Order: sequence, then C-alpha cells, then structure tokens
Amino acid sequence: AKVYKYVKEFEGTPKKSDFKVIEEELPELKNGEFLAEATYLSVDPYMRAHPDAVGETMVGTQVAKVIKSKNPKFPVGKLVVGGFGWRSHTISNGDEEAFLGKPYVLPDIGDLSPSLALGVLGMPGNTAYFGLLELGKPKSGETVVVSGAAGAVGSIAGQIAKIKGCNVIGIAGSDAKAKWLVDELGFDHSINYKTQNVHEELSKMAPKGVDCYYDNVGGEISDTVLKHMNVFGRIVACGAISQYNNINTIFGYNQTTIVFSQLTIYGFVVNRWLDRWLEGIVQMAEWVKQGKVKYQETLTDGFDNMVDAFVNMLTGGNVGKAVVKV
Ligand code: NDP
Repeated sequence: AKVYKYVKEFEGTPKKSDFKVIEEELPELKNGEFLAEATYLSVDPYMRAHPDAVGETMVGTQVAKVIKSKNPKFPVGKLVVGGFGWRSHTISNGDEEAFLGKPYVLPDIGDLSPSLALGVLGMPGNTAYFGLLELGKPKSGETVVVSGAAGAVGSIAGQIAKIKGCNVIGIAGSDAKAKWLVDELGFDHSINYKTQNVHEELSKMAPKGVDCYYDNVGGEISDTVLKHMNVFGRIVACGAISQYNNINTIFGYNQTTIVFSQLTIYGFVVNRWLDRWLEGIVQMAEWVKQGKVKYQETLTDGFDNMVDAFVNMLTGGNVGKAVVKV
C-alpha cells in the first residue's frame, strides 16, 4: 500500500514537504477482514484545520473497491465508503470507527458516479442538509446568505434554501463561480467577494435584511454579513476556511452586533447526525434525480496528486466537490 504520512506541522498553505509517501507491506487477511483498493479519495478543508498528530496517516474518506475478502458483509467487487485515510490499499474488518462512523457498502445509486458518495451523497451533502434544515430552519420568503457558496457544502446548502422557497444570495471567489450559482443552480443573487464590495451588494440584494446566514468561511466576509442580519437572525457556523491557515488570528463575529441584533449562532459538526446519515443521503439522491439539486465535481487524476488537489481546493481552484480519482 502507498500511504501519505503527515510529517511536518502545516504553516500557512500546506506544502508537499509536509507529507511523506511510504510503501507499507500489508499482511495476509485474517477472518473477518477485507482488502479495499481506493478508487476515489476526498480532500476536505477539515484536513487543514484538524489533521491528526504529526507522524500519523493523513485522515480522509474514500470510495474503495473490495478486492479480497474474508468478511461476508463486504464481498469482493463491492464499493465501500470508509474513513481509511490517504492510502491506496486498506485492510479493514468493517468495524473501525472513524470520524464519520464505520465503513459501509455504497448503496445502489443507479447511474450516478460512486464519487458522489464523497460529495452531494455523502458528508458535504449531509452537512448542508442537516446544518441548514435542523439549525438554520429557513422559512419560505426569508433571505438566506451562503458563504463559500460555490464549494461542496455551500452549493448544496443554497439549493436546499431555494427548495424551501427562500431568497438566496451566494458569496464566492470568482466571476465564473458567481455566474454558475445564479445561471445553473438557481440562486437569486451572487457576489464575487474578491472584486465586489460585499456590504454594498448585500444592501441592494437584501434590502429587508438577512434572516439566516450559512457560514463556511468566517473572517471579514462574515463580519460584513452580520451587519445585515435581521433581529433574531440565525447563523449556521459550518466552517471558517478563511481562518484555517492563520489559527492564531482571532477574528470572530462582532459581539455588539450579536447582542443588539439578538442573533443565534449554531456551531456544529456533521457527525452529530450519524444516526440519521442515510435519511440525508436518500433525500439528497431524490432531489438530484428530480433535478432539484445540481452538483459539480472537480476531479484530479492520480493518487500521486493528492497534495496538489488538496492545496487547489484550499485556494479556491475547485467548483463543487474536490475529489481525487485513482
Ligand atoms: P469547498 O468545496 O467550499 O472548498 C473550499 C473553498 O473555500 C474554496 O473553493 C474557496 O472558494 C473557499 N475559500 C478558501 N479560502 C477562502 C477565504 N480566505 N475566504 C473565503 N473563502 C475561501 O469546501 P467544503 O464545501 O468541503 O467545506 C466548506 C466549509 O465547510 C469549510 O469551512 C469546512 O471546514 C466546512 N465543513 C464543516 C463541516 C461541519 O461538520 N461543520 C463538514 C464539512 C465541511 P472561493 O473561490 O469562493 O474562495
């Protein structure tokens, strides 16, 4: 097996030299075990924010094909979704608990690509689904702002808010992304935060204020959105990618605004809903089949290019979900 070890603590944007690829000799299978070969691997922002300790294998979820098995629940030929980390081959007994629970056989998703189990039909889809609906509770006619809107989570969260009948504004980092949100995904408005003044645009796009803010980025963008929140507004604090590279800069929400606008901020981690995981995936699959939720993937070819794919995603090179295809 080829395995990526995390060997040097990240400083700023991760570098190739922060990783070491090693060859690992895998033992013979014991009863109850199976051998899986990676076909798609996920690169996600949390790997930057919370990697395991230096010296450990890089964390991550992958879709892998069972190529040998002594476990009847994981027969040869099946595709498995597992938190095996950045590895080409893995021996599992199907019982190891990772961040997102135990490995599972990919349910039948028809003609859809198995890679979607890492995106709209997996963790990012469920993050948007549960985070927005359980915490943000958008109501028809309300205004919802989504930051990181063209990414894996944000693109889905905005579309779910549309399904719920909201006025949806997406904030993203390029003209192409902003155009995609409105033209393809049906957002009402979008803002390119790199070239436009977010404050001025929000004044025009949300003249009656913002009721719910699905926040993927934190920092300056969020500080600006907060000024537009209505009294009793809800903030779904999903992520803070603008802060992950500078963990020592404390740049939070403006407390005076929180107090006087009487805002509620919900921090959450999606594994809170592990016991309802399938519910989210079944609903997302239905919306995808009905054409109500569209998705895009940014695929990078080759296990050797994991670091490039990771850095590309962290620096905004992706539209929708960033995935590595082996
Ligand atoms: P994305 O697909 O959104 O990829 C990351 C994106 O972040 C980039 O494409 C880039 O888009 C944007 N970005 C990078 N730097 C900055 C910056 N300084 N300011 C603003 N935007 C920036 O990733 P995911 O959808 O997988 O994750 C989105 C967020 O959700 C992350 O913060 C992540 O940690 C969080 N998350 C939280 C979970 C939870 O359980 N709470 C679960 C999953 C994800 P652009 O071109 O627009 O800048």
